[in-house]
Formats: sequence, structure tokens, C-alpha cells
Amino acid sequence: EQDVAEYRKSLAIRTSGFDVPRPIKAFEDCGFSIALMNAIAKQGYEKPTPIQCQALPIVLSGRDVIGIAKTGSGKTAAFVLPMIVHIMDQPELQKEEGPIGVICAPTRELAHQIYLEAKKFAKPYGIRVAAVYGGMSKLDQFKELKAGCEIVIATPGRLIDLLKMKALTMLRATYLVLDEADRMFDLGFEPQVRSIVGQIRPDRQTLLFSATMPNKVERLAREILTDPIRVAVGEVGM
Ligand code: ADP
Ligand code: MG
Repeated sequence: EQDVAEYRKSLAIRTSGFDVPRPIKAFEDCGFSIALMNAIAKQGYEKPTPIQCQALPIVLSGRDVIGIAKTGSGKTAAFVLPMIVHIMDQPELQKEEGPIGVICAPTRELAHQIYLEAKKFAKPYGIRVAAVYGGMSKLDQFKELKAGCEIVIATPGRLIDLLKMKALTMLRATYLVLDEADRMFDLGFEPQVRSIVGQIRPDRQTLLFSATMPNKVERLAREILTDPIRVAVGEVGM
């Protein structure tokens, strides 16, 4: 335990919450399949970043996470890699409809970046990824969602529009990510985020990532997540 504390300290990781899994040192410690390890290697990721070292084992254990680390620290892979594992763990992939993983991001640019990252890891498994955001044809997105997907990455307003149009159902959704939660708050998306969360079964796994953690975002996180483990890297989120 002393070793774990020192290892966390060396990575500038602070955690709170009960039964926090120990941080990993290498991607090999995650129990990923060969296909996923190959995809990681193909990305040129040699070792996990600090947020990945601590968040990956927590997310893989099924716990909710509040993850705070500055921009560029590798938060996307911290939720995308376990999402692939989560989806592959589902029995009879094609039986029901709608996405299993739902990722909300504040802007179309961010949604698109997450889409590109998710595609790389989803592709070897034939997992279908859809990205839906403003500024693109709603009808095309409607059709894409109707055709089916396991992962949807969306800006909140557009996702709500498409839910109203019944382009998708949340019946299969069990893995929810709120990325860049601080910016979603700043852009006034709190009501939309709450509406989306309210449409997803309460026994879901929920992850909230942010570069900063103002009190109002922390309060929202505590409302929406269940017994979360909080992980902060560096000076942020003290
Ligand atoms: P954040 O969401 O924290 O701002 P990103 O997930 O966008 O950060 O990652 C920032 C950059 O670091 C991306 O180009 C990503 O491909 C890269 N990256 C992520 N994880 C690793 C890793 N383990 N090793 C090397 N590069 C990584
Ligand atoms: Mg990010």
C-alpha cells in the first residue's frame, strides 16, 4: 500500500472514494485482448498516461469515475478502451437496438475527435460508431442511427432532437460518458445533459471527465454518478 501511495504520488495522482483499485503501470496490466493491444500499439501508445494509469483499472472494474486532468493528457482513451471491453462483454450483440455506449461532448469538433479515436479501437471488432452533432444533416444522422450502432458520440442538443425523432432508443445504453463536463456547463447544456441522463437506465456505468472541476460541475457529477471514484492528475481539481 505504501508502494501504491508512492507510485500515485510520482504520477501526481490523487484519488478519493472507497475501494480504489491500484493504478496500472502498463497496458499489459489491463487484461486487454490481443486485438485491442494491437490497436493500442498501432496508435503508437507505448505506456499509459497518468490519468489512464489510474482511470483504466477503475473503469474496467465497473465503477463510476470523475476524471480530472488537463487537456492533452489522454482522457479519451481512458474511457474509449474500457467502452470497447464493455461492449464486447455484452451477450448477443445484435439482439436489441440502440447504442450501448453513449458519449456526450460539448462541441462538434470534440465529438468528431472522439469519433476518430473510438473508430480506431472499435474497427477490429466490427463495433459501429456514429457521431451526431449540429451543422450536419439531421436526416442523414437519423438514417445512420436507424441502421444501428453500438457507440454514439453526440452533442447534447442534437442527441435530444434525434431521441425525440425516435432515431434511436436508449434501451441498450449502459455506458455513459460526459466528456469536457466543464465546457458543457459553460455552454449551458446542463438541462440537455440532465434530460439525456434521465433517459438512460440508472444501473448504467457513468463517467465524467473534465479539465477543471468547478463546484457546480462537481455537484452535478455527484448527483448523476453512483459511488464515484474521483481521480485528479496534477494541479487541477484540488
Ligand atoms: P484529453 O482528452 O485529455 O485532452 P486526448 O485524449 O485528446 O487528451 O489525448 C491527447 C493526445 O495524446 C492525442 O493525440 C492522443 O492520441 C494522445 N495519447 C493518448 N494516450 C496516449 C498514450 N498512452 N501514449 C501516447 N499518446 C497518447
Ligand atoms: Mg478530451
